[in-house]
Amino acid sequence: MKKVKLSIVIHTEEEFDWAGGFNRHNTSVTHGKELTEMCVDMLKLGCCITFAMDWSFVTSEQGQNVIRFMQENYTEQVEFAAHLHPWVNPPFDEQYSDTDNIDEKLSYPGNLPAELEKAKLAMLTDKIAELTGRSPTTYLAGRYGVGENTYKILSELGYKVDVSISPFADFRHQDGPDFSNKNNASFTQNGIKCIPHSSGYISHIGVLADWLNRDTANLHNLNNNVVGKVILKLLGVERVRLSPEGFDEAQMKKLVASLTRTGVEHLIYSFHSSTSKLGGSPYVETKESVQQMYKNNSDILTTITSVTTPSLFADLL
Ligand SMILES: [Zn+2]
Repeated sequence: MKKVKLSIVIHTEEEFDWAGGFNRHNTSVTHGKELTEMCVDMLKLGCCITFAMDWSFVTSEQGQNVIRFMQENYTEQVEFAAHLHPWVNPPFDEQYSDTDNIDEKLSYPGNLPAELEKAKLAMLTDKIAELTGRSPTTYLAGRYGVGENTYKILSELGYKVDVSISPFADFRHQDGPDFSNKNNASFTQNGIKCIPHSSGYISHIGVLADWLNRDTANLHNLNNNVVGKVILKLLGVERVRLSPEGFDEAQMKKLVASLTRTGVEHLIYSFHSSTSKLGGSPYVETKESVQQMYKNNSDILTTITSVTTPSLFADLL
């Protein structure tokens, strides 16, 4: 039987005070050692890793050390992709990003004017090509923020794959994108292959989870009335990401099983690079939470590597 593909996407970026606003001076990368150690464990399991890197990371000393180390030791198992955090990525435009704290709306690159979104991504693309010797072909928008111009821009800059879709999520309450009508199915847009970050529903009843994961309208119908809401609660329905950030092995195993049953052929497991270090992200504020995150990571990867094929997006081309 053909195995489902598994890609690991690390949002590779600065440490970030996620409640502290979007500030162009917040560019500190001090988790290079921890990230490297964590990744080496995963690479030794046979995993492939896509580093979706932002401007702060690729211009930092520790970030460049990580890139060099991976190229020297694991070149066959890693891919370098682009991750646009527009608030730290030049060129800066007075009107849209040249202030200490920008509006949340402008933290989603897809909300910028097309020329500025393109100019920022072009600079990041060139920088990654200069450091790695290869122009990136995979893109992850900062905060999943793809917009109406993004796919055209990606196509013009030579990108082939986008991994910015976060199924079932709706970020409109903070001026972000709306993916509530997207499930985990891959599709092509403007010549760009869109492969969603794996995220979906689990339940005590597997077939219910499958039904919810198959069609985004199904949850809307149940959620629309009190009886439906009670059923969802009683049957343990919850939305889970394929990520060690707040989700354990049991939850992720159920998600993988349901997505696989519903025909998803390419899974994306993801987390933030800063989560590798105590205090680096909201998921690892205590020693216990760091240990839990590492445990979630090694548990699920040990389990699912036997039923999936490690995959890099660049190898799909
Ligand atoms: Zn990010």
